Amino acid sequence: MIVVEGLKKVYKSEKFEVTALDGVSFALPSNGLVFVVGKSGSGKSTLLNLLGGLDEATEGAIRFEGDEISEEERDPDIFRARCLGFIFQDFHLMEKLTVADNVSLALELNGKKDYDRVKKALRQVGLDGVEGRYPAELSGGQQQRVAIARAIVKEPKLILADEPTGNLDSVTSEQIIETLKDLSKDRLVVVVSHNLLSATRYADRIIELGDGRIVRDVTRVRGHEALVEGDTINLPSGELSDAQLDEINRAVSEGGKKLRRASEFVDTAKLETIDAENDMTADDGCAGEATNGNLSGAEATKSASDTDAEKDKKRVKRGLSAKRMIELGAKFTKRTSFVSTTVATAFVVALFAICVILYGFNGNGIYMQLDIARYGVFSLQKGYCPSEIEGNLLTDRQVRVTDEDIQEFEKAGYDGNVYKLYNMSIPVMVYSLDAGGLPSVDEVYRYFYTETAMGVLVADESYLKKLFGDFEVLAGDLYDKPYGVILTDYIADSIAFTQGTLEDERPYDNFVGKERVHERYYVNAVISTGYKKEFEPLAEKFKDAWKDGEVTERERDALTSSSEYADFLNAAQNKFNIAYSLNPDYVKSVAENPLESRMFARIMRAEIFDESGHKLADNFGGYVPLAERAGIEAHGDEAYMSLWLYNSLFGTQMTAEDMSAFEPKTLKLRDYDISDLALENVTYELTIRIKGVLDIDEAMIASRELIDKIHEYDVYAYALVFDSNGKMSDVLDVADRLGYRANAMEFSEVYNVLRVMRMYCDLFLTIGVVLLAVALLLMVAYGMKNVRGNAYEIGIIRALGAGQRDVAT
Ligand code: ADP
Ligand code: MG
Repeated sequence: MIVVEGLKKVYKSEKFEVTALDGVSFALPSNGLVFVVGKSGSGKSTLLNLLGGLDEATEGAIRFEGDEISEEERDPDIFRARCLGFIFQDFHLMEKLTVADNVSLALELNGKKDYDRVKKALRQVGLDGVEGRYPAELSGGQQQRVAIARAIVKEPKLILADEPTGNLDSVTSEQIIETLKDLSKDRLVVVVSHNLLSATRYADRIIELGDGRIVRDVTRVRGHEALVEGDTINLPSGELSDAQLDEINRAVSEGGKKLRRASEFVDTAKLETIDAENDMTADDGCAGEATNGNLSGAEATKSASDTDAEKDKKRVKRGLSAKRMIELGAKFTKRTSFVSTTVATAFVVALFAICVILYGFNGNGIYMQLDIARYGVFSLQKGYCPSEIEGNLLTDRQVRVTDEDIQEFEKAGYDGNVYKLYNMSIPVMVYSLDAGGLPSVDEVYRYFYTETAMGVLVADESYLKKLFGDFEVLAGDLYDKPYGVILTDYIADSIAFTQGTLEDERPYDNFVGKERVHERYYVNAVISTGYKKEFEPLAEKFKDAWKDGEVTERERDALTSSSEYADFLNAAQNKFNIAYSLNPDYVKSVAENPLESRMFARIMRAEIFDESGHKLADNFGGYVPLAERAGIEAHGDEAYMSLWLYNSLFGTQMTAEDMSAFEPKTLKLRDYDISDLALENVTYELTIRIKGVLDIDEAMIASRELIDKIHEYDVYAYALVFDSNGKMSDVLDVADRLGYRANAMEFSEVYNVLRVMRMYCDLFLTIGVVLLAVALLLMVAYGMKNVRGNAYEIGIIRALGAGQRDVAT
C-alpha cells in the first residue's frame, strides 16, 4: 500500500545540517502491524511524519498505491485526509473539546458528522460512556484510547502511531498495543516504538532504523520452516494447533530429536513469496473516502473515472461547515478578548467611516445641486458666512468679486455663462429719511413682500428665459434706459403694496418709467415671474394674517417656520428678489447718468481720527444720506453729524434742545474693503469737516462729493451666477478655494452644521487614529497569543488531515 523510495530528510538550519533520514526504501502491505524501532534520534519520528504528510522529504518519494487505494486517493493529500489516522505519544487531544467532539472532529474535517460512528469508534477502543467528558477527566490510557478512536473513526486504511505507549505504564501499554494489533487485522498500522520487546511480541514486521538508515527489516513468518526437520523440532511461539501438537508428539515419541525455537522473523527482502501469502486483501477499505460510503472494488474504478469537476466538488465538500467552524473556533478563543477586539475594531472602522462621510459632505455642493435642480442655475456669493465673523457690523457682508476670480473659474474648465450680481441698492421702501406716508420697514418685513431687492444682476434675455420661461413684460420696456433696471413682478408688487396700489388695475404706473424711484433707481420694466402662482398658498396665508392690518410676531413665526417658506425665500434669493439689467454697461451707465442722485452711500467700516491723528473710533459703518436730498446745504468735504455720534466721539452731552456745545471738527475717515478683515489695505481716506449736528438716526449726512467718493467703493459685484454648463466639481473646488459660498438662505444654517461636523470629524479622526494604533497593537498581540495559544491544536488538526481553511478556524 505504501511504497517508500530513497527517502531522505535533511534538517537544515544556519549552523547545523542533520540528516535524519538517509535513503530509506521499503514497501508496506495493506494490513498488519509494522513496528519502526531504533534508538532515540535514529529518525523514527521523521519517517512517520513524512508518511503522515506532516513534513516534506528532502529527497525520495512516498507513494500510496495498490488495489485498495482508489485513483483519487493516490494523491497524497487526499490519501492523508481520508485514509490516515495519526496517534501521538502524548495523545494530543484538544483539551477544550469533549471526548466525543475530539473524535468527531476527525470525521468532520472530512465533511461528515456521524455520532454513531463516533460511538462505535469509542466502543472499539473499549471506551463507553465517556463521550461527554473532557480529556483532563480521563486517565492516560483512556486518553490514548480516545486518540486511537479519533484515528480510527474515519476507518482509515493506515494508522500511524508515534510512541503511542511512551507515556503509559506497561500494563496499559500492552492493552493499547493489543488494541492496535486488533485494528491491524484489516488495515495497516505503523507504530514507532523503542520497545523492541513488544515489537517482537506483536509486530508483523519490524523496521529498525539507525542513523537514518534501515539497519534491519524483518517480517514475522509462521510455518515457513517445517515443524520437524530431520532430528530438529522447530518449536513455534504461541498456541499450537491440534495438528501441530500431534506432529510434535509423534516426532518426540520417535526419540532422538532436538528442540529449537522457530525463527519468527525473516529478512523481509527474502520474503517476496511469503508476502503475497501474508497479505490479506482489505475487506472493507477506508470509509472516509468521498461522501457516501466505500470506494473499494468496482466503486474505486468508478471513482477513478470521475471528472475533475466532480473531484473538485468532493474536495470542496471536505472540511468543516462554516457553522461548525465558528462553533468549534469559539472554543479556542477567549471570548472576552475576541469580543473586545471585535468591538474596538468595529468602533474604529465606524469612526473612520463617519469621518470620511463628514469630510465628503459639502454644503456648498448640496446647495449648488439644489439651486440647479430648482432654478437651472446656481449662484455663488463671495462673502462671509454670518457665523464666521464675530461682531455685528460685518455679519452678512458681501465681498467684492474680482475679474481674476472669474478667470479662475474659467481656468478650471467652466465654459458656461457667468453673470455678476451687483450690490446696487434697489430699496422697496426708504429707510428713515423721507419715509413719510409709507409703511414702516418693520411692517413690510413682517409681510410676504420684500423690503429691498438683493441687487442688480446684469444678464441677458436668455438668462431671464431660463429663470422665468416665456415671461411677459407687464409694464414698460426692457431696454428703455441704459441705467434703468427690470423689476420682477415680485419686487414691483412689493413696491405697489407699500404704495397701496397693489389692488389697482395698473399697480406699477407710479414707478415704471419714472425717474429715480425712491431717489435711487429707474425702472425700465416689470416682468412676470409666476411667483404668485408658485407660492399662492403661502401668499394667501400671509394675506389672512395681514387682514387686521398687522402680522403679529406669533403669526409671522408660524408662517416663516414652514418648509414652504424656506422654499419661498430661496426662490426669492435666486430669482424673484433680484432686479435685472440687460445692459452689459449698466453700472457705468448709472454712474454717468446726470439724473442719478443716490440718496445714500454706504460706509463699510471706517476708522475715524481727529485732526491730530488720534483715533476716535475704529469700527464705524452705516448709511450716509446725501445732504441735498435731506434739504441741507453741504459741499466739498462738508458733512453733518448726528447728535448721538458726535456725543459719543467727543464726550459731549448735547440734546436736540441744546446743541450749544458743538464745535466744528475736521475728521479723517479711513475705510477698508469689506474683504479686508485684517484691515491692511485702506480703500479710501476722506477728510470730513463737520459743519453741524442734527437730531437724526443716521450717523452722518454728507455732501454729494463725499457721497460720490464713498460710492466708488460702495458699488461692486458680490455674487456670480453660473448657468451650469460647466464642470460642476471644478467650479466647486475653485469656489471653496476662493471663499465663495452657495448663495442660499439656509446656507448659514448648513454652515453651522458643517462646522460642528468638521469639529467632530477632527475629534473622531484623532480618536480614530489613536484607537486604530491601540487596536492594531491589540490585534497583533491577540493574534500572536491565539496562534501561540492554539499552535498545539493547529498541529493536531493538521495531523488529522485538515486543510488550511480548517486550521484558520
Ligand atoms: P527519533 O524519533 O528516532 O528519536 P527523530 O526523527 O525525531 O528521531 O530525529 C532524527 C534526527 O533528526 C535527530 O538527530 C534529530 O535531532 C533531528 N531532528 C528531528 N527533527 C528535527 C528538526 N525539526 N529540526 C532539526 N533536526 C531535527
Ligand atoms: Mg521520536
